[in-house]
Amino acid sequence: MQNAKLTTKAHPAHQTTVQLRDYITVGGRDLLIVGGPCAVESLEQMETVASRLAEAPIQAIRGGVYKPRTSPYSFQGLGDAGLTILDQIRQRHQVPVVTEVMSISQIEEIAAHVDMLQVGSRNMQNFDLLKALGKVDKPVLLKRGLAATIEEFVMAAEYILSHGNSQVVLCERGIRSFDNYTRNVLDLGAVVALKQLTHLPVIVDPSHAAGKRELVAGLAQAAIAAGADGLIIECHPEPEKSVSDARQALSLVDMAELAHSLRPIADAVGRHIPTRTLEAPQLAVA
Ligand code: PEP
Ligand code: MN
Repeated sequence: MQNAKLTTKAHPAHQTTVQLRDYITVGGRDLLIVGGPCAVESLEQMETVASRLAEAPIQAIRGGVYKPRTSPYSFQGLGDAGLTILDQIRQRHQVPVVTEVMSISQIEEIAAHVDMLQVGSRNMQNFDLLKALGKVDKPVLLKRGLAATIEEFVMAAEYILSHGNSQVVLCERGIRSFDNYTRNVLDLGAVVALKQLTHLPVIVDPSHAAGKRELVAGLAQAAIAAGADGLIIECHPEPEKSVSDARQALSLVDMAELAHSLRPIADAVGRHIPTRTLEAPQLAVA
């Protein structure tokens, strides 16, 4: 890989681990399972997600507050109000949260309220954003561009590392191809290749790859078998009512069931799915 000075795996045991808070290590033996809706819609919705997933082996919660939508007339996310909701969930349930950052101007505010900043597919080659994220002291979840080659993906990560932030997790989320039965094509070959080429943790988003909820579990299981370091999966208290990506959202029951179903697969490939050790929920102060 040309010029990938900082992301290249120097020897087979060379592996970076990324810390989420001080109790979740990504890229080691433990897998990272992230669940949550495409978009934060209300406090009630996120409370339901966090409390109903609390017993499942899921270590972090996702939810977009700034949404990159194809149409400017579609819901664009709750913005700052959504960030406040994520922060409340994070404090109350003692669970790390992940959300997407779309522009440099959002970085400071988002970094103050969440544990991991997601760069969406549509921004994978927003080089100014990547450079700015290099200056942030928070983990970055970098999603593969819709039609990015593996080399372009690695070089995007290289931007963040070369500007000072080595806490980068790569995410394969499917790439565009000719078949529109699935929303995208999950490239598990890229997962295996990225694990060999780079020392960064690699997780998989089967939701945006499949685009259909009935395909998500199979792809998630295959990803863990292929050596992925974790998964990020969309789920919702009322999947068909999701304001965005409804067709691919799992119910919370299915999400918990899927997370449990991964355990024997993880064991078979020498990995482990930690049970979330929760502190007692803190009572909201009126
Ligand atoms: C998302 O995670 O909701 C999202 C928009 O994903 P992607 O950038 O992979 O399309
Ligand atoms: Mn989505």
